[in-house]
Amino acid sequence: MCFNADGTAIKDKECPECGTKNPISNATCNHCGFKFPPEMMPKMRMRECPECGTSQVFTNKVCEKCGYKFPPATGLGGAKGPKGPKGPGGPKAPGK
Ligand SMILES: [Zn+2]
Ligand SMILES: [Zn+2]
Repeated sequence: MCFNADGTAIKDKECPECGTKNPISNATCNHCGFKFPPEMMPKMRMRECPECGTSQVFTNKVCEKCGYKFPPATGLGGAKGPKGPKGPGGPKAPGK
């Protein structure tokens, strides 16, 4: 149960420098400090700045490009939104 048939969800990654296995979420190698390139990082939730359209990690509180302040997350339910931004940001209809 540890791995996917697809290999899409990898839990560990090997450091190309020293071969140490690191948790996928590590930004640097635990052993040698090698900096993993972005493509070796897990997919983080991204969002686009409504002001300048820069895509950035969901955890940014302000846009890394223009400084736009993202509104605090609403909806504490854990409702899963659709994957990826789709339209040009129309008003969301709360339809069920
Ligand atoms: Zn290493
Ligand atoms: Zn921006």
